[in-house]
Amino acid sequence: MRKPLSLYIHIPFCKHKCIYCDFLSFDNKTNTTQIQYINALTSEIRLYKPYADRFIVKTIYIGGGTPTILDEAMIGKILDTVRHIFKVDRFPEITIEANPGTIKYTDLISFREYGINRLSIGLQSADSELLRRLGRIHNYEEFLRGYENARRAGFENISVDVMSSLPGQDLHTLVDTITKVGEMSPEHISVYSLQVEEGTPLYDRDDLINMIPDENLDREMYIMTKKVLKSFGYNRYEFSNYSKPGYESRHNTVYWTGGQYIGFGIGAASFFKGQRFKNIENIESYIEICEDIRDELTRDTDRNRLYDSTSAVLRTNVETMFIDKRMEEFMFLGLRMTAGVSREEFKLRFNREMFDVYGEVINKYTDQGFMSVDEKRVKLTDRGIDVSNYILADFILDK
Ligand code: SF4
Repeated sequence: MRKPLSLYIHIPFCKHKCIYCDFLSFDNKTNTTQIQYINALTSEIRLYKPYADRFIVKTIYIGGGTPTILDEAMIGKILDTVRHIFKVDRFPEITIEANPGTIKYTDLISFREYGINRLSIGLQSADSELLRRLGRIHNYEEFLRGYENARRAGFENISVDVMSSLPGQDLHTLVDTITKVGEMSPEHISVYSLQVEEGTPLYDRDDLINMIPDENLDREMYIMTKKVLKSFGYNRYEFSNYSKPGYESRHNTVYWTGGQYIGFGIGAASFFKGQRFKNIENIESYIEICEDIRDELTRDTDRNRLYDSTSAVLRTNVETMFIDKRMEEFMFLGLRMTAGVSREEFKLRFNREMFDVYGEVINKYTDQGFMSVDEKRVKLTDRGIDVSNYILADFILDK
């Protein structure tokens, strides 16, 4: 029987870098580089041919960067290659990320034709002044137009990204954004707090950093977000993710539940055949390596050997996931979900009782009111989510 597999495809191009962004993306690459990169991506996908027959692709996520910056035909080309190499499920979830400043109605129609059935739109805030401060290329009105166009093009599953704890944002401004989004009724909403990352322009902007809400306000925003979204019928199913019933992100759920996925493109992470690894981040080297793959694929080269030799140069941080690591991940990724982790699933995967491995930690936090346990599942309480960083660190086995 074929095993379920998810695919992530990284498009590292943006029109303009947002000041807080530490994602692997460039705003200075030429059209030629973009074309070379897409060709490289398709070669990398074809590299997996020797293993593809064992899997069925359930979800595909095209993220970035800003995938919608590309000519839509390039997206079509990537998905054609995926379908040529892998068997894709009859009812897959196929998501593309979109920046409101780059959504064209005609592209949306093409995306639907390519089988893309979920759109993830990065709004971040309904306050256009805040958007400008962050260096976003769009304003709120453009988001509204993009959203309407997506509905008109037939997207019945839309996710909207919102950010909290932005410089100068207060509770009122955040609630205003959340309310406006809730009223539009997208199927899914993600709300993440701004993180100030070293190496970003924001990191050196003391004027803006001084305007970022403090920890208490950040917490208040988190609590308020849940409350407001609940009133619109959204359920928080993961720390930062909310959905209408049945519209939880299938792709992200694979990450949180330890499923297998392959990441294509620079910097993309994978969990495949018992190993975690990341692709190299240098775009020129990536293109060069993938051009070699393409040449080899036109010859009679042994495909398994090509896969092995190319993997060695394309991948970094390769880590074999032994049982301890897999148990740790099962717990600290699974506990991000409000449904928590299944005791039975733990036993099935690791042939051990969850309480034999983690009983002491779970009992400690249950006594303190941070976790709750029943005969089927173990989960964090709302109080536990507040201090989740500390609690989850306790699930590491070899401290
Ligand atoms: S659109 Fe996204 S990936 Fe691009 S610069 Fe802004 S935050 Fe980064």
